[in-house]
This record gives sequence, C-alpha cells and structure tokens, in this order.
Amino acid sequence: MATTDHHLYFTKNLLEWHVGHHRPMPWKGERNPYLVWLSEIILQQTRVEQGLPYFERFKAAYPTVADLADAPEDEVMKLWEGLGYYSRARNLHAAAKHIAHELGGSFPTTFKGIRSLKGVGDYTAAAIASFAYDMPHAVVDGNVYRVLSRFFGIATPIDTTEGKKLFAALAQQLLEIADSGRRTAEGPNPQSAIANPQYNQAIMDFGATHCTPAAPKCPTCPMRPHCVAFLEKRTGVLPVKSKKLERRQRFFNYLIINRNGEVFIKKRSEKDIWQNLYDFPLIETESLPDDQLFLMKNETAVDWLADSRWQLLRTSPPQRQELTHQRIVATFWELEVGADFLPKVANWVAVERGKLANFAFPKVIDLYIKQKFLPLELF
Ligand code: SF4
Repeated sequence: MATTDHHLYFTKNLLEWHVGHHRPMPWKGERNPYLVWLSEIILQQTRVEQGLPYFERFKAAYPTVADLADAPEDEVMKLWEGLGYYSRARNLHAAAKHIAHELGGSFPTTFKGIRSLKGVGDYTAAAIASFAYDMPHAVVDGNVYRVLSRFFGIATPIDTTEGKKLFAALAQQLLEIADSGRRTAEGPNPQSAIANPQYNQAIMDFGATHCTPAAPKCPTCPMRPHCVAFLEKRTGVLPVKSKKLERRQRFFNYLIINRNGEVFIKKRSEKDIWQNLYDFPLIETESLPDDQLFLMKNETAVDWLADSRWQLLRTSPPQRQELTHQRIVATFWELEVGADFLPKVANWVAVERGKLANFAFPKVIDLYIKQKFLPLELF
C-alpha cells in the first residue's frame, strides 16, 4: 500500500497526542521480557483495572520465570482465580516450565521464538517484541481495529481473514512510518521531533482512552479533520464484525454435599471449560430443573445419594456466569448426608468447609461460597 498524506497525518497526530496522554501503568516502560509477557497475558480479554492487582500479585509471588516454573499448579490457578479464561494460566505455567527447562532459563529474543510459546499469538508476540526489545512489530488488538477502521473508514469485517490481513498490513505500514522518524541509517535520529515515540503504545492508549467503543471523544480529537468515520458520521458502525456472538446455554446443578463439616469437591480434568479448577459434584441438565424434587427424580442424583440418608438444606436461585461462547446457569443444591456417606466418584475429595478458600474455583462457585457459606455455618 503506497504511503499517502492520510497515513502521514495519522502517525504524526497520533504520536503528538501521545506525548501528553501516556496512561501510567506499572508495566509501562518495562523491558524485562518475562514481566512484559506476564502483563500481556493477564491483560488479554481483561480490563486494566481488573488485571492490575493480578499483575502485582504474580510479580510478587514469582519475580522470575524460574519462580513461576517451580510453582505448584494449584497455587498458580489459585492466584489466577477470578480472572477468567483459565487456559491463560495453564499456558503461562507450561511456557514458564518450557523456558526454564528447555531454553536454559532464557526468555526467547526473536519474534519467532516468542510466538512459539504456549498461549502467545500474533498480538502478544508483537507486543512483547516491541515493548521488551524495541523490535518493529505492529500490534493489532481491538483498540487498533477500532481506531484504524474509523480513521481510515474501513468497513471490511475485522473477524474475517481478509480483514485481519488488511488491518495487520496497515498497522505495520503505519508503525514503519512512525518508526522511520526516529531512525537514521546510523540508528536513532536525535533530531526526531518527538523523543522516542512508541507507536504501538500510542495507538493502544488512544483506542483505550480516546477513540473508545461506545463514546469516542471526537469533539476533542486531533484526528477529527481527516477522520472518515467522524466526517461521514459512521463512528457508531465502525469497526464492522461479520458474525454475531452466539452463546450456548448450559445448566449446571452443583451438589454441595455436607458430611460432618466437610464437603466434597473435585478437580475438573475433562476437556471442557474450567480445566484444572475445582468444583462440586456436578449434574448437567438440558434445562433448568423445574421443581425441588430434582434430587429425587434425576437418575444420577438418585444413584449418588441412594446409600445414605440425606436432607436438602437449601436450593439457590439460578446463578449466571457469562463466558465468551457459553452462558452457565448454575443451581446449588446444599444437602446434609449421614456420616456413613461415601463418595460415588473416584475423584471426589472431602474438604473441611473452612478450607475451601485454599482451592481455585470458577467465579460462579467462588461467589456462591463467599456469599452463602457463612450463614450456613449456623446450621
Ligand atoms: S474523530 Fe472520533 S472516531 Fe475519529 S479517531 Fe477521533 S475519536 Fe476516533
């Protein structure tokens, strides 16, 4: 794509805007690739305010990649609890082990090497290469799609192969234009009008704080005179997505089986959501059970409870958790069983109620435990 005045206008104004609008964040300016990687993985699909305490926690618990590699998996999952998308934590841990044991403890220094780490896609690899090593790789995340599609008036859907290619090429072209201003054949250009402009950081900050999804600040935008979306009143329709997200609804019935102050939990090992987290004995149903006799009617529940006397203590209203492609509707059935009750599935473990906080649970269960378990101690 030939460089046009439109491209030059964009990079110049973006970099100038960024001089006065740095978003202060603890990992900004960080050059340690391990910490850049950690922050980028935590921030995937996560708001900065939510990710920040997790970054601090991980950095304190595991100051080096070797510390993370040596940590027990349950501990890593517990530290990640509440952040969602748990495959990130599993991949992070696996990649740390790979670096510590296969790569002699050294973080990869090439784009290809970084990209080959588990859980690292094009965006994260570009961000690490750029922020840790100052390599000229353009990042393309949701902010970048939004800003570029609006400013250049591009209606190609961002979730198509064609769109991804187009935006990646444009972002790379703009980075190179921005970068050329501060380099000469001999290295960094001391005459550059803007000291050390960081194009990647600038476009991400601009998208996150100025050209925001629902209410872009067009009236105070330096790009406004040449922004196609603004001039054509299309900010509300750009960027374009081709597919509407469809969520599968699933109904989880959790049995909280109390036996002498202990409850049964299990580690989720199936190939399904929440792998390696803990939950309670689970019966999934096609729909929401429509009466309180569920435990007497459902075959699995009848089978699990057949050999012991039991008493239903309470049933929760349905609790929801939204995942990217699924909506979980969870109902908790709390019951008391006799001391002779034996677990019916091999991986159930009995845990004192007061020790549940030591295990990592999916959000919907964690919230339930925090909100409901204290009052139940009165039984
Ligand atoms: S004018 Fe509005 S839509 Fe265009 S770049 Fe600025 S904030 Fe975004």
